[in-house]
Amino acid sequence: MNVFFLIALLLPQQVLIATPRGQSSIPVSNERGTAAVAAVLLSQPLGLSMSLDASTLRVTLSGGDSSFEFDLGSPFVRFAGTAYPMVGAPYVARDTLFLPLHWLVDYVPHLLAGRYRWDASLGRLDELTVTATAPAVAAPLPRPATPAVAAPMIASSGASAPNPVTGLRLSHTIVVDPGHGGVDPGNPGMYFPHGLTEKDITLGVGRLLRAELLRRGLNVVLTRASDTLIDLANRPLFCRTDCDLFVSIHVNAMPAGKRQTQVNGVETYFLSDAKTEDQKRVAQMENDALRFETTATMEGPLAYILRDLQLNEYLRESARLAELVQGNVAGIHPGEDRGVQQGPFMVLAAARRPAILVETGFATNRDDGAFLASASGQHKIASAIADGIVTYLLEFERKLAVGNGGGQAR
Ligand SMILES: [Zn+2]
Repeated sequence: MNVFFLIALLLPQQVLIATPRGQSSIPVSNERGTAAVAAVLLSQPLGLSMSLDASTLRVTLSGGDSSFEFDLGSPFVRFAGTAYPMVGAPYVARDTLFLPLHWLVDYVPHLLAGRYRWDASLGRLDELTVTATAPAVAAPLPRPATPAVAAPMIASSGASAPNPVTGLRLSHTIVVDPGHGGVDPGNPGMYFPHGLTEKDITLGVGRLLRAELLRRGLNVVLTRASDTLIDLANRPLFCRTDCDLFVSIHVNAMPAGKRQTQVNGVETYFLSDAKTEDQKRVAQMENDALRFETTATMEGPLAYILRDLQLNEYLRESARLAELVQGNVAGIHPGEDRGVQQGPFMVLAAARRPAILVETGFATNRDDGAFLASASGQHKIASAIADGIVTYLLEFERKLAVGNGGGQAR
């Protein structure tokens, strides 16, 4: 797909649909990391009707002789016997079915040639008047079958009363990724007692973080719950359909040199190109786990994903999540607040959700090392990360509520 098209696809906050019967402004949602529109809002302007058979969704546009077929959660649309890849997949959120914007502004105008035209610069989809004799103006549009379709899908996804502890209304799943493990010890931990290494600290903090998140009513998946090695490339696979956030836990280390034992503190990374030598060092150190792996292919995934402009959406979210988590952990940490950093981490690149990597302190510093190795230190870190995540999710839910408020067509 061409890059300029993708850029245009990222920009609109809403899509204007202009037909001979009037105009509608349809809000664009980015809550799942790719642009999507609520199908129900298309029913009036496009005469869209739907039917659902198991997880196969058939969508027909007004006067349409042919229909589009989707599978929930699958980034392909079928039309006239051919499957086309989409940016994003159809999904259900808050009782509403969402269809990828890509389908609406690319495949609809191209596959229904002559009936629709998309103007990316205006964010406008025009229904073209085919002939002057078309009765479309006078005839009322058939009321689409959306309610009947939506009903069975509503059951499990409705928002509930707020959680008494956190105030969160929706169900969220957090993937917690304790760095390294098994034959990959991570950094050797100059100031950890009893031969502990990074992989032991990250597992300890990861398990405690799971407990803290569960206590706050969130769902949690651990990429590893024991001393095993999970390939970097496979860790983000834990963060798929049922995942809102990905949090990787690590311990920092300084290379041998004058400042080796002095540098201390916590820093939180989100994915991007590394800007400083220090950021490159940390990314290289963590990506080094690839040495222990058999299935990873470095050139492919990272290069590909960094080119993918959809990244922008969740980069912003990742940066905000990083900021909130960093602020909380820095508040309880004996070391410096080293702030939010950016780095090209393999493990974050493929998650395709807001994803952060917390460097919880320096094993090469005496105070940090003691703090990280202590039960109370690990507890404080886990609790602070959990608080940051909840604050982020509260913000996220408020944004969704705003997005829904004025969402009616026209
Ligand atoms: Zn690490």
